[in-house]
Amino acid sequence: MTGEPSRPFTSNWSDGVDPEFLDVVRTFVEHRVAPAAARIDELDLYPREIIKELALIGCNAMTLSHDLGGGGQSYVTAGRVIEEIGYGSAAVGISLITIFQAQTMIRLFGRETLQARYLPLFGRGLIASYALTEAAHGSDIRSLDTKARRDGDDWVILGEKSFITSGSAAEFFVILAETEVGVSVFAVPKETPGLSTYEGPSSATFGLRNGPHVNVRFDSVRLPADHLIGTEGKGVRQAAMTLSYSRTLAAAISVGIARAAFDHALNYVRTRKAFGQTVLQFQGIQWYFADILTRIDAARLLVVRACEALDRNEEVARFSSEAKLFASETATAAASMAIQVCGAYGTTTKAPFERLFRDAKTYEIGGGSSEVLKNTIAKSIEKYLENQ
Ligand SMILES: Cc1cc2nc3c(=O)[nH]c(=O)nc-3n(C[C@H](O)[C@H](O)[C@H](O)COP(=O)(O)OP(=O)(O)OC[C@H]3O[C@@H](n4cnc5c(N)ncnc54)[C@H](O)[C@@H]3O)c2cc1C
Repeated sequence: MTGEPSRPFTSNWSDGVDPEFLDVVRTFVEHRVAPAAARIDELDLYPREIIKELALIGCNAMTLSHDLGGGGQSYVTAGRVIEEIGYGSAAVGISLITIFQAQTMIRLFGRETLQARYLPLFGRGLIASYALTEAAHGSDIRSLDTKARRDGDDWVILGEKSFITSGSAAEFFVILAETEVGVSVFAVPKETPGLSTYEGPSSATFGLRNGPHVNVRFDSVRLPADHLIGTEGKGVRQAAMTLSYSRTLAAAISVGIARAAFDHALNYVRTRKAFGQTVLQFQGIQWYFADILTRIDAARLLVVRACEALDRNEEVARFSSEAKLFASETATAAASMAIQVCGAYGTTTKAPFERLFRDAKTYEIGGGSSEVLKNTIAKSIEKYLENQ
């Protein structure tokens, strides 16, 4: 367990992944993302420049088809790429997730005119947010206080969303609002008259800090008919499907966070001395690493399984929930372990672990809390039993 590793110990996996693309991303993460991570977190900044640069190297629309300006990549590749970005900065990772959420909703359910108008913009760096949550509706979005009503051919939206990630920089929103027949989904460009954003009273989180979360107000925002995405009243079903994509990618970020904690701690304990040997030479310390490495590898396999499910469109709700549940809890465990084995250094603000710990813990809630994910997994068991 001595000798300088040429590449971080946890990074040497690329089965089924486009190797050239992954190398480009790794280099970008090493030079642009990782060095900026502490500053983005400390100042709670949206990493606008980095996100626009990620678009230039093909990350922001990597799973869209070539004719829509995308990279035509599989989700197996996308998951691995997002893991690498999360390894450098979870805040940059979640900035991409909100872009993918908006993009995926339009790709899966949008009318052709809407797809042709907006999807090509993502490859050119369009920043987007996805707005489900309201002050009175978090996990339960079956009914909403934001309303949409028909006015001739148009839709008119009235209400307010809260806790919206990337909202401080978003140029485009995909939102849920309730119509006469139920929850529905709409595309809303930022410049639409009547739309405004502001920092709500509890907009700053302690983790995944990519700029303060915002409230988005809709004061009679008027939209053309084709800005309804998918089927009126089917918004919850559509949101559930879209969340399977974002949960899988969120799980990949959590694997990245866990790896960052693991690698940084490993680098410290291999040279830190106690009782005449390196800290890593204590078997008790090696076992911490063995346990966490096993969990990281297992979490990554779950992410790959969820990505394969997305690529094949099979059981996506179950596998994405399993991946996010396990990966987010693994990341928290990895950050906690890293603090422990590094002793006092682990507790300093100079070490990255407190940021990693805060990011890891926050991802046990954002994008689907562990409890809600367990409900989804349990539903897949119920469904199986019903079909017996
Ligand atoms: C970092 C971060 C980023 C976010 N970004 C966005 C965003 O971009 N867009 C957006 O729309 N929202 C966003 N949210 C909001 C997020 O989706 C909600 O916080 C989440 O859905 C949980 O809702 P809540 O906070 O209102 O918790 P509540 O719904 O009030 O739940 C409180 C507790 O009860 C548990 N609980 C709730 N229902 C059940 C159940 N049926 N069974 C068991 N336990 C249950 C929850 O798991 C939680 O532990 C973000 C949240 C975070 C933390």
